[in-house]
Amino acid sequence: MQTRLPESVLITREGREAEAILRRCVHCGFCTATCPTYRLLGDERDSPRGRIYLIKQMLEEQPVGEHTRHHLDRCLLCRGCETTCPSGVRYSRLLEIGRERLDRKKPRPWPQRLHRAALRWLLPDARRFALALGLARRLRPFLPAGLRARIPAPGDAGPLPVSTHPRQVILPGGCVQPALDPGIDAATARVLDRLGISVVRAGGCCGAVDLHLSAPEAARQRARTNLAAWTGLLDDGAEAILSNASGCGLMLKEYPDLLPDDDRARPVAEATLDLVELLEREDLSPLGQPGRGRRIAFHPPCTLQHGQKLAGRVERLLARLGFELLPFDDARICCGAAGTYSLLQPDLARALRDDKLEKLLARGPELVATANIGCLTHLAANSPVPVVHWITLLTDE
Ligand code: SF4
Ligand code: SF4
Repeated sequence: MQTRLPESVLITREGREAEAILRRCVHCGFCTATCPTYRLLGDERDSPRGRIYLIKQMLEEQPVGEHTRHHLDRCLLCRGCETTCPSGVRYSRLLEIGRERLDRKKPRPWPQRLHRAALRWLLPDARRFALALGLARRLRPFLPAGLRARIPAPGDAGPLPVSTHPRQVILPGGCVQPALDPGIDAATARVLDRLGISVVRAGGCCGAVDLHLSAPEAARQRARTNLAAWTGLLDDGAEAILSNASGCGLMLKEYPDLLPDDDRARPVAEATLDLVELLEREDLSPLGQPGRGRRIAFHPPCTLQHGQKLAGRVERLLARLGFELLPFDDARICCGAAGTYSLLQPDLARALRDDKLEKLLARGPELVATANIGCLTHLAANSPVPVVHWITLLTDE
């Protein structure tokens, strides 16, 4: 694609990055076939190719209106288009640059800014979020049905291991997951304990919420805090930073893009493993065969399959452990959770979720497993069968 970006854009690192990405796009349109919003809305401006054009126009200093924001906001950042694109266009990075620039160029109306500021105040702070969720659970009977369904009942985490092992991995402190489903971290610790690995908790929110709400400096600040917490532990012998939420794992693996001048970012990114990457190289015989032929469906989060490029890996691991994985249509398409998307674009998110559930449940699985807390809570809000994190299935004797 030919570009005519002005000098004022090209003197910035982001401007040069955007130009390089734009030039890779040959405008073929293959990506439109796997774009959830284009499939749903049928508008070229809600496709990757259309959004790339909108961003190009903005970077070329052509006039932008609210319609540009409208279509960029509707993108899920699911990266399905990146998996499909034959030219290797890094669409997600271009969108981040485009959204941030648009917010600076044309500030959002204040109700939107207030909503986004409230989300950024609440979600990344684990303690604050836990307090708010506790309050919401008390008020649950008085809330409208739609909101009630989004508030999961408190779960029992189960016992934590007491033994310590010479092998250790770092488990990030996270943000919403410990409050929404404490059983995930506890199950992770129990499974690893049986494999002779201990878990050390350190660090906090990865910064993805800030980054996706066009607040990159706040995301960088969270990343720096995490780098400080993890670098020393890695130097002391921790084997890896282990992520059991695929969205956070992807963010950590992309810290070098966020902090290109920070020497600690690359070693941390390279030490980051998704849970499946660690388990698939271990001897899993201490876990037995927890599957015992249970018929389940696995929903692969976009951050796992398109972001971290780990498509099919959890499914193969679960099959090794005796589960029967039921196939379903459109596994590559986003469920609509997409971080804060389900809160900011509730109608589109609901339509994508209901379509996803219909496909996931077509062959009658006893439950749906997934690998990211956002997808889990989004799907569970309307699922007739349980939706769980896959690691919790491995703790059954
Ligand atoms: S598939 Fe890739 S090259 Fe083709 S239009 Fe989409 S982003 Fe551009
Ligand atoms: S990231 Fe997802 S929603 Fe956004 S343009 Fe690409 S495929 Fe479509």
